[in-house]
Formats: sequence, C-alpha cells, structure tokens
Amino acid sequence: MKARVMIQTGDRRLEMAEREVPMVGPDEGLLRVEACGLCGSDVEQYKGHFTQKGIVRYPVIPGHEPIGIIHEIGAEASRTWGVKKGDRVALEPHLTCGSCPVCLGGRYHLCRSLLQVATPAYGFLSTEFGHGLWGGYGEFIHLHRRTIMHKLPDALPLSVATMYQAIAAGVCWSVHVPQSSFGDTVLILGCGQRGLGAVLACANAGVRNIIVTGLARDRYKLALARTLGAHHTIEVDREDTLTRVMEITGHKGVDVALDVSPGATAPINDAIKAVRVGGTVVLAGLKGGQSSVTIDSDYVVTREITLRGVYSQSYSAYEQALDLIARNVERVKPMHTHSFPLEQAALAIETLAGEREGEEAICVSINPGA
Ligand SMILES: [Zn+2]
Ligand SMILES: [Zn+2]
Repeated sequence: MKARVMIQTGDRRLEMAEREVPMVGPDEGLLRVEACGLCGSDVEQYKGHFTQKGIVRYPVIPGHEPIGIIHEIGAEASRTWGVKKGDRVALEPHLTCGSCPVCLGGRYHLCRSLLQVATPAYGFLSTEFGHGLWGGYGEFIHLHRRTIMHKLPDALPLSVATMYQAIAAGVCWSVHVPQSSFGDTVLILGCGQRGLGAVLACANAGVRNIIVTGLARDRYKLALARTLGAHHTIEVDREDTLTRVMEITGHKGVDVALDVSPGATAPINDAIKAVRVGGTVVLAGLKGGQSSVTIDSDYVVTREITLRGVYSQSYSAYEQALDLIARNVERVKPMHTHSFPLEQAALAIETLAGEREGEEAICVSINPGA
C-alpha cells in the first residue's frame, strides 16, 4: 500500500510524493489522516525557520496536529492505547520515553530521551528517520509504540475537532498553569487561535473578567472572542493596553496575564505591568529568536510577580479541551475558517500566515482524507 504525502524539501518548497506504507507491528498502528490542524509553527516550519535553527531537517512531512481513523493496530498497541480499528483519535505530537526524569517529573513533552533527535515529534521528524511516515500532511501516519493519543467523542464534526491543540493550549495556559478560577480577571494578549482557546477555557472556568487584545486589522477575531466569552477587547494599535486594563480593573490590575502574541515583545512588558501584586504572567508566544527582552526585574521582585513559560499542553488539558469542544460545537465552529485538500498545503499555510489578501483566517486545516 502507498500513501500520498506532501514533503517539504526546502524553505517554502512542498512537493507531492508517494511513499510505501510499512507493516504494522504488534505495538504499533496506522492512522488514516482525515485532517490536520495548522498553527504558527507550521508557518515557521514552511518558511524554514526551524531548519535554520537546526531543530528540523529536510526532507520532512510536516503536520503535528493530526486527527484520523485507526486503520490498522497491533494487539499490544490496542491494549496500551485503549483504542481499536475504526476509532477516531487525535494525536499529541511528542514522542517521549515515559521513564526519564523529565517524563517522570510531569513535563513529558520536553523529553529528548526516546529518539535522540532535536525534535522527537510528529510533523518534525525527517522522512529519512525510520519509516518516514511521521507527518499529518499525508494520507497515513505510522504510529510509534510511544504515541500519546486521545479518543474523540463520537459525532464531533471534523472541522471543530482539528482545533483540539489550540483549545488544549487555552485550557492549559490560561486556566491550569496560572490556576485561574471563579472571580478572577484574566488578560489575554493576542487573539489568534490560542488566545481564542484561552477565552473559551476561561469563560468555562468561571473567570469573572476576560480581557483580550489584538490589532485593529484583527477586529473579526476580537468580535469572535466576545462570542466565546470575552468581556472586554482592546485594539492595541488604537488604544493603550495598560491604560485600558487599569480602567477596567479599577486600577487593581489583573490576576493573570497570558501572552500568546507571536513576534512582538512589547506584550511581555504589558503583561508584567498589567498584573496585580502577586499576580501571574504566563509567557507562551514565541518571539522568533528576538527573545532578549528588557524587563524591569525590580518591579517583578518587589511585587512578587510569578513569571512562567509554557511550551506545550498536558494530557489532562487535551482531555478537557475535547470535552469543551464537544459541549460548545456551535460556539467554536466560526473559529475554523478554512479547509484545504492535501495538494493545496502551501496555500493553506499562506492563508493562515495572512499572506493572502482579503482572507480572514483563524483556524485552518489540511484534509488529506477529503
Ligand atoms: Zn501546532
Ligand atoms: Zn522521557
């Protein structure tokens, strides 16, 4: 059997190809990819940023947010994963050993012990590594025995299901990590898919006041944030973020500030200055390497502010996100704006990246199974 795949062979270069699908061992499986969600990492990978940094090697089949049907499964894998042929699942990207200090300490997504490569994850392993079928931009993914997966609720529409990673990030970064709860005020800096996932998570956690920032050109995303539960929105290029936050909070500041803005470094200082004494700042937005940001450390010390970096999502965040999506299908539907066939993977990435005039993109997916 052969699989049609989209292989990245260079910066901004994707090529359709066919690859042999290897046999499935007793502790392995084969996923027939229905759809693969895209995020900012897909854009960076496409432009070659990850290869330039040495964390991804060409050729590679990208796609780290895949959803599909278990097409074949070994008996041992079926027992371990608790799924059978025909089940629909969503994959966690990271392949981890489960027994090193990092895994046992609970940060399994940061484990580098299993495969001894820079990025041991679906969508980032070269086709020259092992069997090569590691990416969601393809009809099949060959499932490694250490795969972590989540069974999807029956009847969840495919387009909303592809947002599982964005919403899991929202759950993890805006609620679990900073322990936001009933009555809190949370500031979310950035209104991309992860910012909107955070709004949905906070609203469901009973957060009293949800404030979201974005650019004026992203007004459609801020409008959607309101339908997902945001109480206040700030257009950062038209209004001063801190002035508005202090107005809204009666000069108390927010309990939690989450930065999910890509590239810009100003929101890091906005987050620090926006939180109350003893508040928590969660940093999630990657700044493309321009990470030497000047912060007022005395301000952080004397106000006992917690600074916390987050990089991925926990198992429980994924489970709660899938439940949240299943209970809010109609509300989250407008977040998914575009689907593309596998052949148009480049167009999909460029649409998400905002490179296509007039396209209002939020969540975009590639559907190899279409
Ligand atoms: Zn992603
Ligand atoms: Zn490990």
